[in-house]
Amino acid sequence: MLMVPRLFGTNGIRGVAGTEIDAGLAFRVGSALGTLLPKQRVLIGRDGRLSSPMLLEGVAAGVLARGNDVDDRGLITTPALEFMVKNTPHSAGIMITASHNPPEYNGFKVVDSDGIEIPRAKEEKMELLIHRDRWRASYQPGRRIINEGRIESYFDGLEGQVLVRDAIQSMKIVIDTGNGVAALTTPTLLRRLGARVIGINDVIDGEFPGRNSEPRPENLGALSNIVREEKADLGIAHDGDGDRAIFVDETGIVQPGDRTLALVADELLRNHPRANIVTPINTSMVVSEIAKKRKGNLILTKVGSIEVSRTVVKVGALLGGEENGGIFYAPHHPVRDGTMAAVLVVNAIIRNGRPLSKLLDRLPRFHMVKEKIPCKEEAKDHAINMLRASLKGRISSTLDGIRVDVEGRGWALVRASGTEPLLRLYAEAKTEDQLQEILDEFRPLVLNAVK
Ligand code: MG
Repeated sequence: MLMVPRLFGTNGIRGVAGTEIDAGLAFRVGSALGTLLPKQRVLIGRDGRLSSPMLLEGVAAGVLARGNDVDDRGLITTPALEFMVKNTPHSAGIMITASHNPPEYNGFKVVDSDGIEIPRAKEEKMELLIHRDRWRASYQPGRRIINEGRIESYFDGLEGQVLVRDAIQSMKIVIDTGNGVAALTTPTLLRRLGARVIGINDVIDGEFPGRNSEPRPENLGALSNIVREEKADLGIAHDGDGDRAIFVDETGIVQPGDRTLALVADELLRNHPRANIVTPINTSMVVSEIAKKRKGNLILTKVGSIEVSRTVVKVGALLGGEENGGIFYAPHHPVRDGTMAAVLVVNAIIRNGRPLSKLLDRLPRFHMVKEKIPCKEEAKDHAINMLRASLKGRISSTLDGIRVDVEGRGWALVRASGTEPLLRLYAEAKTEDQLQEILDEFRPLVLNAVK
């Protein structure tokens, strides 16, 4: 069997633009998709990075050269492109983005005809084609249609998920799109629904001058302040391609993604008892406790948005979610969608008639830490095997790394990072003391295993 170097990581193909990710690779990615999924109309779109127009041209050329049509959507968010692919017959998609990575990065997300990232098996087929780099001549190149900005049906789909339209008109919402492409979606949608929207960092700029493109608490100080100063009901922050959303409550506190996810799960399970909810194995107990309380059925997956999307579809789940602000709402489209997440949180506030901080206060509280332990790529397997041996008899799951549940107290998980030379140690417990006990036991074990 021919060994082909892996191009796809946990987030599609990603790397430094101009060196690792150049127009030649873009052409080959377009050619490979055009070969693998013939006779499809390929929707292509891009984020606002400076290298994205160049890569879009390369992808378009590759798709056209293989005889497929190109439907060029220009600047668009990842979830909007995915939604359009699902709802356009005979189509596939390629999104040019590096999500929240620094400005010098870029990459490709390849979307299957169902509007979800292609599964592992298709990635491998594409890698083989890209590596071989020999293309069947097509004497009839496809057509390119320019459809930039045409996302009406995406907005219609989102509006269909809004519970009480009138109540939104009394809301004041601050939206920090971090100079990313979500400036095209969330503020527009909420303004159309009648909310008073204050936009910050809402000019699309590939250098991300406003803030770091990852919506982490340390990057959202300005948003917190403006929510407080303006006495707004809500703050919303997105990442560079608009698939994640982190929320700031009306007191200016940046709320962790898993608590928002638990709130959304709580709301949905009240109306749909026994529904399936999908989360990766590193998600907080706040979600599992809510699922238990509402008699929902929680299904755990490996870490990664493709895993969650594909599992949501497979088990017919209502909702999927990740701690990083990824919410997958199946009735809209089972992918991570930051604008859909915003609609769900607005629905929760309106339905309960209470501010976000109060809604989140009702959820159980846990203590969690995430640590990074440096470990060379080639030492990862050995370290995980050593941990497996030393924890024998206590392991509750090996779905992704090694997880040990400590009865009545909490859990620990050690897994190899898919993107960086390190192991990740997660631990969570009901109290600080219990968390410390778990860490005191697991941290030395992991440090010993990487030695
Ligand atoms: Mg993203």
